[in-house]
This record gives sequence, structure tokens and C-alpha cells, in this order.
Amino acid sequence: MDKLIFEISKEGRVGYKLPESEIPSVDINKIFPEELLASEDRNFPELFEVDVIRHFTNLGRKNFGVDVGFYPLGSCTMKYNPKINEDVSSFEGFANIHPLQPAETIQGILELQYKILQALSEITGMKWGTLQPFAGAHGEFVGMKLFKAYFKAKGEKRTKILVPDSAHGTNPASAHISGFEIVEIKSGSDGLLSIDEVKKNLGPDLAGLMITNPNTLGLFEKNIVEIAKLIHEAGGLLYYDGANFNAILGKVRPGDMDFDVVHLNLHKTFSTPHGGGGPGSGPVLVKEKLVPFLPVPDISFKDGKYYLNYDIPKSIGRISGFYGNIAVIVRAYAYILTMGHDGLRHVSEMAVLNANYLRKMLSDKIPVAYDSICKHEFVLTGKPIKDSFGVSTLDIAKRMLDYGIHPPTIYFPLIVPEALMIEPTETESKETLDHFCEIIGNIVKEIKENPELIHKAPLNTPVRRLDEVKAAKDPVLRFKK
Ligand SMILES: *Cc1c(COP(=O)(O)O)cnc(C)c1O
Repeated sequence: MDKLIFEISKEGRVGYKLPESEIPSVDINKIFPEELLASEDRNFPELFEVDVIRHFTNLGRKNFGVDVGFYPLGSCTMKYNPKINEDVSSFEGFANIHPLQPAETIQGILELQYKILQALSEITGMKWGTLQPFAGAHGEFVGMKLFKAYFKAKGEKRTKILVPDSAHGTNPASAHISGFEIVEIKSGSDGLLSIDEVKKNLGPDLAGLMITNPNTLGLFEKNIVEIAKLIHEAGGLLYYDGANFNAILGKVRPGDMDFDVVHLNLHKTFSTPHGGGGPGSGPVLVKEKLVPFLPVPDISFKDGKYYLNYDIPKSIGRISGFYGNIAVIVRAYAYILTMGHDGLRHVSEMAVLNANYLRKMLSDKIPVAYDSICKHEFVLTGKPIKDSFGVSTLDIAKRMLDYGIHPPTIYFPLIVPEALMIEPTETESKETLDHFCEIIGNIVKEIKENPELIHKAPLNTPVRRLDEVKAAKDPVLRFKK
């Protein structure tokens, strides 16, 4: 186990020296009131510069990321993000502007925001939107607020949101904190939303339906047009969770499927490194009837100039401090422009091809839960392996670490027992996918021959099997001698 930086500290060592100051020093005790002064030893580590660099470089090397190896984390779209997007987002003109600058001095970034909103509206089949939400879940929350504002303006009291049992956890959570009541819809035996189940819940209290399509099993809801018709006839609205848009990019559009509101995860589909809680961006796009309710400020264009518009009477108001996660939005715009129309379409073609190739190749090793043509991802079930050999999906995931592969999402969606949810993404080569299949084949062989070994995995990672909840339940945030 590596030592903490505090433990390698040696009293009196200095990393960096400043020239002798010409300004006379003052006694700090005379400037600040006594009660504001730190009373105890601050205990900063004292090291040479080279030791600091080595310490953090070595720690960084222990990290696993998509630039290191295959990362098939279902629903999270851990794909390779082209470095040109990084270069563009760090251009001085973008990186050094201040969010409080007057609009006339930041015309460039306003133009970029205006143009990406146009592009995203076109990509999703919507009218207009907002770039402010900081994450997918934040976008969902904004979407639910828009539903509320829409019904309020119509003088209707609608309280129920239908959410399938395969939904991403953030969907019911966002609807709930926006004050809606969740009605869980059971998936059919084919893993799809059943028209009959939806029909049971139509009524004057229905606010709408919230789904992701393809759903979390990677299956496309083929009855969506009929379901949308039923929801609209009952007076409800449709929300599209577009976090994993690489499944359908350039092929079908939520707007054409008759959805009213959609959020995208720029940090998944539109190429930004993510994980560990950020950075993210979850733009929300809406149909014309919901445009009046969008958050302020809106970005508009008139007589050759871009404006930030705060005067929108029906708006749900501000939902972020400034204009959203601008650096992520710049990356996404660079990505859209470098890919172009055909390139974006190619994304979904490759994402779907890769997922179906892996699904077929793996299906004789670990069974596929709902085995039919999928979109960008698919779900395996480790239940037969658990029943026969006592090896759980968690054990299998841990063993993958020994082979230098990041494990897939596990135990989600909840409707699949011992689930392994795999999304290879569009940026992986056939060789990488074949290598992954070979590793899964090896692990399945090991399970049959030596299940004990798998229970103990990982065996050759920097840390072994961790207590999954200890860091959250018993955090130690400060070093004390
Ligand atoms: C990732 C994801 C979300 C949530 O996005 P965050 O940016 O993590 O809040 C919602 N729905 C689906 C289907 C997702 O994959």
C-alpha cells in the first residue's frame, strides 16, 4: 500500500522557494481577530518538488480510464473522446471569459451556444431548448418543471408520471422531487413497454410518460408511436431520456416519435471525459408548445447580435448560476462540427453494430437476458452461473479487473437478476471486442474449474476487494497523526 503524502513528509523540506521579499512582514495576529486564527498546527506535508510530482504521478497511474483500456460500462457511454475537443475547449477565448461579462463582450460564446442549440434541436427534432442543466438528472428535473408549468398555464391539475420498471433510477427520482407521483409500469415478457399496461393508467390525473428509447435493456420500444398517441389523447406529455443518444443518432428523432421534451447527456454521447461526478451537461430540448416555459436567460439573435434574454414571463426561472457547463458545451460543439452529418450517423451505426457483435459472441458464455437485436447495449444475466457455481455477478466483475478491463454496469436494470449491462460504444475496434470475449471465456472457464479463485478477485490490482460502502458510511476526510 502506498504511503500518504503526509507520511512521506520530512520536516524542513521545501519544494519551491520565493526570492526574499522586499516588503516588510507583519504580524498576522495583529490583522485578524483572535477567534479567526487557526489554533492548532496546520500539519502541511513538507517535501521536495520531485517527491510531490512522483507521488501524484504514481497515484494517477493507478487510475483506470478509457484512455487506458476497454470500459464497457452500460448506460454510461464511456467512449473515446477525441483530443481535438479538449484543444478547442481550452482556447483562451473560451477559457478566460468571465460569466459576468456583458453580452456585447462575449458574442463568440453566445454564438456558439445559439448554434449548438440549433444543431441539437435539429438532431432531436425539437423546436428550441436550454443548455443550462449540469447533468442528465438535472435536465430531467428541468423537464419535469416544464411539465408542471405547462399544466399550470392550462389550469390543469395532473399528478401522475408513468415510469417503466426498467427505467434509469434518476427518472423516478427527478419526477418525484418535482412533486409528481410515480406510477411504475411493468415491462412485458419481451422487455418492452406494454400498450395494455399504459392503457390502464390513462386518465385526467395523468401528467405524462417518462422513458428512454431504446430502454435500459438496449431494446427499442417499437410501439412508441401508438403509446405517444394514447398519452397525448389523455392530455399527458412525453419525456424522452436521451442520455444514451449514440443508440439512435441520425436515425430516428424523439420529436418524430412525438416526444415533447428531451434531455441529452453531452458528457456521454457528445464526447466529454466524464465519471466521478462530472463535469456534465444535460441540455433540454422541447416542442414549440413548451418553449415559453424554458429557463432564463434565453439566447436570442437579432440584427446581427446575440442577446441574453431574461424577460420571459412564463419561464420556470433560473436553474443554474450562469449558462451551464460551458467547457463541456464547447467540446460538444467541436465534436458535432468535426463529425458532421454523416459522421454522427456513423456513430449510431457503429455503436449498434459493436453491441450486437458482442451480444452474439458472448451469448454462449453468459446468457443474454432478453436476446433479440439490440441498440447500443445489452444485458447478460449471471443467474445460471450463480445457481450452478455460487459465483455472483459481483465476483465476475471483480475478476475482470485482473485482466485490465473495466467491468460493465452490474445489478442494473433491476428487472434482470445478476445483471451485467454492457455497452461497448462505437469507438472500439473488432480486436478489442474479440479480446474482451476471450477474457470472458477465460473467466467462465475459471468459474467452472476454481470458483474459489473468483470469490477472491481481484488478485493483482493496486487494492484488493474493497468494502463497497465504508468510504460513504465512515468517511475519513482528514489526516491526523
Ligand atoms: C447517465 C444516465 C442518466 C443520468 O445522467 P447524469 O448526467 O448522470 O445525471 C439518466 N438516464 C440514463 C438512461 C443514463 O444513462
